[in-house]
Amino acid sequence: MIIESYAKYLIKNAREYGTSDIHVLPHQDIYGIYFRLNGRMERQYTISVDEGKRIISYFKYLANLDVGERRRPQSGSLLYEYTTDEFQDLRLSTITNYRGQETLVIRLLEIQREMSLTSSSFLPQELNTMQQLIEYKSGLILFSGPVNSGKTTTMYQLVKNRMKKSKMQVISIEDPVEIKEDNFLQIQVNEKAGNTYEESLKASLRHHPDIIIVGEIRDEETARMVLRGALTGHLIMASIHAKNAEGVIARMGELGISLEMLQQTVIAIVFQKLIPIYCELCEESCQVYCTHYPITNKRAALYDLLPSKEFQKMTMADIRKFKIERSRNFNQLLKKVLIYGFISEEIYAQYYIP
Ligand SMILES: [Zn+2]
Repeated sequence: MIIESYAKYLIKNAREYGTSDIHVLPHQDIYGIYFRLNGRMERQYTISVDEGKRIISYFKYLANLDVGERRRPQSGSLLYEYTTDEFQDLRLSTITNYRGQETLVIRLLEIQREMSLTSSSFLPQELNTMQQLIEYKSGLILFSGPVNSGKTTTMYQLVKNRMKKSKMQVISIEDPVEIKEDNFLQIQVNEKAGNTYEESLKASLRHHPDIIIVGEIRDEETARMVLRGALTGHLIMASIHAKNAEGVIARMGELGISLEMLQQTVIAIVFQKLIPIYCELCEESCQVYCTHYPITNKRAALYDLLPSKEFQKMTMADIRKFKIERSRNFNQLLKKVLIYGFISEEIYAQYYIP
């Protein structure tokens, strides 16, 4: 195997399939190469242990990582020329298991292609409401959902739609910046260089932008700063890790933000998942090779929207017990799209939040 051309072949294929990540994983006596397709890991190729090691070393070398170091986890990035004059932005990270076998994950940035929110969403109602909420001059909109559920795409598209009406200053703070957008001032967090979310946010607030997009609230400092920004006349959209819309409130609580504080600032909480669409040709979720739905439209977003007015009535006890009387929560909407025939029974069971 010529490693250089095999690497090109891998990246080219991953791009064609719309893969967000390539995993080079060691097994007992082989290496498996997996693509993350439509959120699922699928094994594409099997190579020998020797080939696996060589491909990992090759990418480490390209990204200026320490090729000889196989124990400690390493991470890096590179702009990879996969065909003449065509480049792909890659993020690499390596980790070694207890047997001393190295694993490589290659993330392909910017692979999420532009798409309109309407064509990639199951139900229009939540989307229309979000588009109205984005007109607010100040306040906080929190987005949540699993990794790769399209949160950044949603935030970007909502803001871009609003910008069609009037010119605004928009600052986004992300780690890493995944979608390049010339109309935003995009700031990349770099913790190692001391460029944290908190610091970037502080600097951004001094610019008095109309809208700030925060890639992830992951510590108390950032949470506090986001709240302060929302209280001082900025519209802030931020994503935070939680397993459903109500879980966002609990998560903010863990980060030191009380329910009362949220009730004063939050305009809405959005929880979203990208769900595989049922395809008549495949007679199940549309498969990678099927042409019925294009590769970027094999999944659509289901939004659960918790607007502040519903949210004002809640107490912490309601939230803990998830006893909120809502007519359009995630599971109810999931049922609705099942009844409409947009998804299969199997997918319904898989995406239902217990
Ligand atoms: Zn299909």
